[in-house]
Amino acid sequence: MIAFDLKCSRGHIFEGWFQNNHSFEKQNSKKLVSCPFAATRRSAGSSPPVATRISPREEPSKEAIAIDYGRLAKEVVEYVKRISMTWAMISLKRLSKCITA
Ligand SMILES: [Zn+2]
Repeated sequence: MIAFDLKCSRGHIFEGWFQNNHSFEKQNSKKLVSCPFAATRRSAGSSPPVATRISPREEPSKEAIAIDYGRLAKEVVEYVKRISMTWAMISLKRLSKCITA
């Protein structure tokens, strides 16, 4: 899924979710992308506003999340290596206090 910030021809800004970039182009060319603000106010006979993409906002993929977790784990390991075991134990105690609190 991909989110776009869309702007209708009447200046309303709204969010639209699409399967992909092509899906947006296809739906928009068929004027299937309707502005939620203009749609309720549209007078009979007027053409639907054509949405304009302002910025794409891609959701992080599952793969990207997995990579982030992997990197995070490595960073934690490096951090633990750098500090003394005593300090690690204190940190863990503090952390468990935070979690249980
Ligand atoms: Zn509008």
